[in-house]
Amino acid sequence: MVNLNQDVKYVKGVGPNKVKLLNKLNIYTLNDLITYYPRDYEDRSIVTNLKDVVDNEKYTIEVLALTDVNVRYINRNKNYEKVIVKDDTDNCVITWFNQPYVKDNIKKGEKYRFYGKVTKKNGFIELNSPTYDSIANTKNTGKIIPIYPLTNSLSQNVLRSIIENGLKLVNSSLNEKLPKYLLDEYRLLDINNAINQIHFPDNFSNFSKARTRLVFDELLSMQLGLLMLKSENLEEIKGIKYRKDVKMSDVINDLPFKLTNAQLRVLEDINNDMEQEKPMNRLLQGDVGSGKTIVSMIAAYKAVKSGYQVAMLAPTMILAKQHLVNFQKILSQYGIRCEALVGGITAKKKREILEKVENGDIDVLIGTHALIEENVIFKNLGFVVTDEQHRFGVKQRAKIVSKGNNPDVLVMTATPIPRTLALILYGDLDISVIDELPPNRKKVETFAVSKRYEERVNEFIKKEVRSGRQAYIVCPLVEESDDESTANLKAVTEIYENYKNDIFKDFKLEYLHGKMKSKDKDEIMERFKNGEIEILISTTVIEVGVDVPNASVMVIENAERFGLAQLHQLRGRVGRGEYASYCILKYNSKSEIVRQRMEIMTKTDNGFTIAEKDLQLRGSGEFFGTKQHGIPEFKIANLFKDMEELKEVQALALKIINKDPKLEKEENKPLRELVKEQFTSKAELTI
Ligand code: ADP
Ligand code: MG
Repeated sequence: MVNLNQDVKYVKGVGPNKVKLLNKLNIYTLNDLITYYPRDYEDRSIVTNLKDVVDNEKYTIEVLALTDVNVRYINRNKNYEKVIVKDDTDNCVITWFNQPYVKDNIKKGEKYRFYGKVTKKNGFIELNSPTYDSIANTKNTGKIIPIYPLTNSLSQNVLRSIIENGLKLVNSSLNEKLPKYLLDEYRLLDINNAINQIHFPDNFSNFSKARTRLVFDELLSMQLGLLMLKSENLEEIKGIKYRKDVKMSDVINDLPFKLTNAQLRVLEDINNDMEQEKPMNRLLQGDVGSGKTIVSMIAAYKAVKSGYQVAMLAPTMILAKQHLVNFQKILSQYGIRCEALVGGITAKKKREILEKVENGDIDVLIGTHALIEENVIFKNLGFVVTDEQHRFGVKQRAKIVSKGNNPDVLVMTATPIPRTLALILYGDLDISVIDELPPNRKKVETFAVSKRYEERVNEFIKKEVRSGRQAYIVCPLVEESDDESTANLKAVTEIYENYKNDIFKDFKLEYLHGKMKSKDKDEIMERFKNGEIEILISTTVIEVGVDVPNASVMVIENAERFGLAQLHQLRGRVGRGEYASYCILKYNSKSEIVRQRMEIMTKTDNGFTIAEKDLQLRGSGEFFGTKQHGIPEFKIANLFKDMEELKEVQALALKIINKDPKLEKEENKPLRELVKEQFTSKAELTI
């Protein structure tokens, strides 16, 4: 069998330059190469008669060259090539630019197949820069051609031929990882056929069979992996039983506002879990501003008053500090001592906090990743809250949990994952949802505008700021660059310079991005909060949690580059005070999908609805983004499109695991390999 882990450089046609380009696509090994699946296909197998072609569409034609290729030079660097061809129904002129070598390939009186876009004017048919084969050949035409997702200077033709060479090297010698009984029962294509046909399908029916097979592999291995994880967790672990006589209602009745019914319901779930011996593992989902933080505080009260410590993990320093202020506001009146451990505090202060945590003189410790470090030792950690879970991997959660003795865990997230999906993806957690916003929340008026409206948008920002409000301007993520983060940084500073020196020169502007020192970030956020900065230009670092009630405008540049879930979270930064608030999505695209996505944002303010629609339009990969942790990435499965298969596979996985929990039976051994390969390579999911 061929070594799938061998470096991609050993594939024919892959020199040092190509290696670099392939690496950028995350292709390092032969296996990466052959599992780099097409995003689409072009059917170049159907030949169309010239009389039937329509202007501006792509076709394959089979024709006779009536002339040799005529090369004309406009100047030294510019030339064009023309040849006249015919089939039985009409004539056609073919033109290329700067490709004089076609003269050597195409000869008068010979037959060829061309594929390209037709223009048709006054009955004259032209074909521009087509790809072609002589009639006996099917390199570029005459078959179904895969189209790969590409962002850099690698061309479709080059990648296609590299993948072709990779498949030749493999030579249909892949090991079958599905047991025969599954292949038979589900009538699945064998792995070698599936891989060959997914790249170069003989016809669309074969493509479809190949895709079904590969999706099946991905979904089944994920489900088996999750179930195996869960069954490990289920082994009778004894956790903490919190005191029944410590009542959450003691805090609830003192609050300056009434909790929503959804908050009360969720607190009941949590209270029940806390009073059970089995450790709580609960996911709390709720839209931005739905009041998750207060829920975690009330649970923290119960934990502390039962004699345990609480750790709260926040994704950013700014947020950790904000949580500290809020926790102290509510909890200090009950004698509960809260502290924040964040970067940027003095070594002395840090030592002091660590000591107090170890002695039990601090009850609630809030912090960023710093909390995970080994020198943080709790006296008796009993309750762990992680805020905005998508920033933390399962591994990190496990690390903080290991600092206690089977503590209860509450994972909070504002990422609106549709429930059906959440149930599957977070197979190891119970789920509670806050599906109701506190009363008198103002809807954020949302507008989607194209470049034409730039000036009006700027005038609008000025008007709001002059009337005392503040504005955020969020800059896009830049794709297709060597180093994404530097490019983002450039985008922010560039936009900042432009605005500061020109359009908003009379206003107080600052910028903020993820690469700045935490101390500087904090300082700017602090000044924005205090109103010393009027317009804040930022990357998505402001996405999570920070509260500035006076900010009333959120402008998002190149909104088409963001996921809808992310846009929704960004929008949640405004409308947190008493003022009418606005979100302006500036987009720069003519695509119909972009238009539809923008429309969803202007019409809907429910995070879950937005998430479902975005999934429908774009598919799961892009919805979740490539860098978010905790959710497995798929190479070919699409959690929306393949929802039915997912349900079926989930049931199958249950059946298999019930009979053979560790996949030890002879017939299931290959399955265990598959799980190990696919599931553990998504490292975040393995604890
Ligand atoms: P989330 O963490 O879900 O984004 P927060 O907990 O930060 O939301 O709540 C947003 C704001 O709403 C906070 O200022 C909080 O004190 C307030 N709040 C929470 N619950 C209620 C409620 N039931 N009624 C009024 N205000 C509330
Ligand atoms: Mg929050």
